[in-house]
Amino acid sequence: MHRKIIRFFGIRKFRFDLWVGIVILFITISLTHAQIIKPEKVTHFPVGTDYKLARWETITEYLRLLAADSDRVTLEERGKTTEGLDFVLVLISSPENLANLEHYKTIQRQLADPRGREEAELDGLCREGKAVVLINCNLHSTEVASSQMSMELAYQLATMDTPEVKEILENVILLLIPSTNPDGLNMVVDWYNRTLGTPYEGSSMPWLYHKYTGHDNNRDWFMLTQVETQIVTEILYEEWFPEVVYDVHQMGNSGARFVIPPYFDPVNPNIPPILQRTLALIGTQLAFDLTSNGFTGVLSNAVYDTWWHGGFRTVPYRHNMVGILTEAASVNIASPIFQPKASLKGHKRGLGGYAQQTNFPEPWPGGWWRLGDIIAYEEAAAYSILSLVAKRKEMFLKNFYKMGLRAVEKGKDEPPRAFLIPTAQRQPNTALKMLEILQRGGVEIHQANANFTADGVEYPQGTYVISMAQPFRAHAKDLLEAQRYPQRRSSPNAPPERPYDITGWTLPLQMGVRVVKVINEFEAELKRVEKIPKIQGKLHTIPETVAYFFKNQTNAETIALNRLLKEEEYTLHQSTTEHAIGNQEFPRGSILVTTTKILSQVGDDFQELAESLGIEIYALNHIPFKDPTTRLSQPRLGLYKPWVANIDEGWTRWVLEQHEFVYRNLTDAEIRAGSLAERYDVIILPDMRASAMIDGHAEGTLPPEYVGGIGSEGAANLRTFVVNGGTLICLNRATELPDKYFGLEITNVLDSSNQSNRKESEVERFFCPGSLLRIFVKKTHPIGYGLSREMAAFFKSGPAFEVRGGKEVASYPDFNPLMSGWIQGDKQIRRKGALWDVNLGEGHVILFGFKPQHRAQAHGTFKLLFNAIYYGVTGK
Ligand SMILES: [Zn+2]
Repeated sequence: MHRKIIRFFGIRKFRFDLWVGIVILFITISLTHAQIIKPEKVTHFPVGTDYKLARWETITEYLRLLAADSDRVTLEERGKTTEGLDFVLVLISSPENLANLEHYKTIQRQLADPRGREEAELDGLCREGKAVVLINCNLHSTEVASSQMSMELAYQLATMDTPEVKEILENVILLLIPSTNPDGLNMVVDWYNRTLGTPYEGSSMPWLYHKYTGHDNNRDWFMLTQVETQIVTEILYEEWFPEVVYDVHQMGNSGARFVIPPYFDPVNPNIPPILQRTLALIGTQLAFDLTSNGFTGVLSNAVYDTWWHGGFRTVPYRHNMVGILTEAASVNIASPIFQPKASLKGHKRGLGGYAQQTNFPEPWPGGWWRLGDIIAYEEAAAYSILSLVAKRKEMFLKNFYKMGLRAVEKGKDEPPRAFLIPTAQRQPNTALKMLEILQRGGVEIHQANANFTADGVEYPQGTYVISMAQPFRAHAKDLLEAQRYPQRRSSPNAPPERPYDITGWTLPLQMGVRVVKVINEFEAELKRVEKIPKIQGKLHTIPETVAYFFKNQTNAETIALNRLLKEEEYTLHQSTTEHAIGNQEFPRGSILVTTTKILSQVGDDFQELAESLGIEIYALNHIPFKDPTTRLSQPRLGLYKPWVANIDEGWTRWVLEQHEFVYRNLTDAEIRAGSLAERYDVIILPDMRASAMIDGHAEGTLPPEYVGGIGSEGAANLRTFVVNGGTLICLNRATELPDKYFGLEITNVLDSSNQSNRKESEVERFFCPGSLLRIFVKKTHPIGYGLSREMAAFFKSGPAFEVRGGKEVASYPDFNPLMSGWIQGDKQIRRKGALWDVNLGEGHVILFGFKPQHRAQAHGTFKLLFNAIYYGVTGK
């Protein structure tokens, strides 16, 4: 600017009036935005500079300064992340709107749940209200550009006075999340800076970018296990109810530069049609704006679909909110890349080759691709969306309440009318947990005040009722019903198309909760449940107590067991037969506790244990069984944590911690070093291919301490560990390791070693990329103790076994095992083994052909994993 003025002064004659005008203009501008500094004052480089990234502390420092200096920006701290950083929400709007946030929140709540209001009143609210748009940046930490972009976008909106920006500020309240995973942002920036200028520049980190979930932090949006997910869910479905939710991502860089809505098929039938049309409306405007502003390589109607539930963008669909995803081609974290046009390819779904077509009218010509390019696309997209919503604010608000009303009407007019959750459950705590998850996701829950009849069956007072006549019907219905993924073929003889993500997620099946779907209209006296209660646990006392006994068939009882194992004064035994005591049936696997303490003094401890966990513990006046073979000791448990960061390892760790297991992570080096039986009783291998375990990262791709896997010597050490009495639990694809390296007679009938990368032509024979399948469990095997004979297992690209020797613990039925999702070639898996216990030397290899702890959602099958862990230490 300074240079320009001097040049201007030099080439023109001095004009006093013009200069007075210019001086007054500058004074006005500097008074209006007197304190507002650019991001580079804090970052010390312009946002989007090659090789330069701001950490979380820097980004939030800048946004805090901006909020302090601009009356268009406020910043809220919304709690702490998993690893203790500030989780931040930035609100941007006109100063008048920001002064009335509570008022606009109230309007949003009324539009989200429009029941009981006249149309005229609702239309009045739409005129008065503001459109709320949430922009979410940097959910996936390596997709780093948007976190940097957030500073620039906030700065522009805080300082620009164009008519377009004024219209946005006037009509829109922008909720900007600069990063949903600040922990991962810092990890990625630190790793990038550490490797910058080395041969490892831009390499993947040898650990997950979220402590437990890694990339699966975008698979947690209905289950809500992680604190970051919970914080945002509260903003979405309890506080702000935004009309539009824009989730900014990056993808690989083999083809298009920017993928935008509308999306690819299939559509999920629960998503309102008007919402699909709104996606097309926004997508068309977005495509138009980007193309007219010179952005090339923009692809729509491709790759990503609207079938799957559980993502940041897809859960809002089930809440009548327009979820938008854009995916920009990535660079090497922040290092530019050069891509000749000939190197660019099409995409599997929607772009056969890298060439012009209707949904891709202007291919990017190739060349250098930089961090700054991604930021420019993302910023332009944000403006386009904000501007459209600002221009048609009332339409967006009206559609929002209309979708809510239609959902209520659909629930009244067509089946299912409701889902019932009986209070008598095999795992009552888990049933309530499921209700709690639904309620956090905005679902309304009722309970019957009196007995009632539905579909000709009488249900008792206390039964939980989830009516389908509610605004967020789609969310409740899609989680409670079974999915039927529509098989798609490009032509009648073509192989079935591979789904983008998993195809089935039904919560009651995953969690082992009994739910009844009601088809016909029914009447019941209901009261709204504001807070889901906890199960009241109980200690059943008896005179002359000599021991305590509990059934150990629920996840909550696992926590009790783990707490007791930590106390040296207690001796635990696990029953290997059923016992009837008084009017109670105790299944195999029930836990008997005796103590060296004086029993009268520990009664309070057991009462506290029963009440805090909501379980039943029974005092006994005799010892029903007790011999050394039934003794249960604290397992010395190891969980393999490879340097090839593994999401399943993260989820396993989460599930173990939630159930208070004591465990240690084993590294590649520790397994290579051997003598494992000296330190472990039980080792878990998470879901990963044998080759990834053996080889790890290739030499030269990461710093030397992170390359190489367990090696063939590690495989041999694991085998020795089993031969010497250890128990090796192999989850899903990890079963390949004992199959290939232990000399066991295992046949994987699905030959699914390469399932996740299958070609379309191979999909015809067998394919099942994430569905719930029925299994039958042997309750007489210790791993099946205390469980139902029949359950739903989450199957994802797993094996199914024929094994010589060993014992079958669970198997698939001799009919189609599909319960929810999609399966191709189900005959291949019928009658085959799902879970095997194979003897080797003194020890056991436990082969899981499915994912018993899948994304911390499969509460119904957790216990199979837990029992397998204890199986390694009974009688020792
Ligand atoms: Zn992503």
